[in-house]
Amino acid sequence: MIDVPDGTPYDPEECLGVDAGIVHLSTDSDGESFSGEGVDQVREKIHTLKKALQEKGTKNAKRHLKKVSGKEARFKKDTNHCLSKKIVSKAKGTGRGIALEDLKGFNGRTMVGKSQKERFGKWAFDQLRRFITYKAVLEGVPVVLVDPRNTSRTCSVCGHCEKDNRTSQEQFSCLTCKYTEHADINAARNIRFKAAINRPIAV
Ligand SMILES: [Zn+2]
Repeated sequence: MIDVPDGTPYDPEECLGVDAGIVHLSTDSDGESFSGEGVDQVREKIHTLKKALQEKGTKNAKRHLKKVSGKEARFKKDTNHCLSKKIVSKAKGTGRGIALEDLKGFNGRTMVGKSQKERFGKWAFDQLRRFITYKAVLEGVPVVLVDPRNTSRTCSVCGHCEKDNRTSQEQFSCLTCKYTEHADINAARNIRFKAAINRPIAV
């Protein structure tokens, strides 16, 4: 379980952009999605069970609900440990840094609008982000935080930014250049691009 990290920081030429999604827990700018074996089924199962217990509302149901919630938290944590490890080792193995959206806006205010909340709030991406960051530090992988604004509505090919580019939760389709891609992959590419114009800073 415990690896001995080689935490000598390196200077990457580029970054792997990582986006949080709803369909997949995270997607990188190479187009690889990280979900984890059986994660979706477990998430769905827990969700259904919790809903049923909430509706029932009895003392017994509440006790059961508490147990299920604890189980869910442990499952999230395990999954996020596994995903963050994969992402960090991929970045390290390819000599890249990791670019993530900076969820703290200007003046330290958390930038969570409704659509962002929808994206970030899903499945504890904040925890995944923290895990990626601390594992990256241990491994010497630089992390670049980028401004999250418009990453989901901007075309990663031509740069056209419009809300309607995002045709659905899953689909991105540029109204100008007609580029069509999975919405999470397009966003991850924008995150990578934003990191490239920022100066990489190790955190
Ligand atoms: Zn375009």
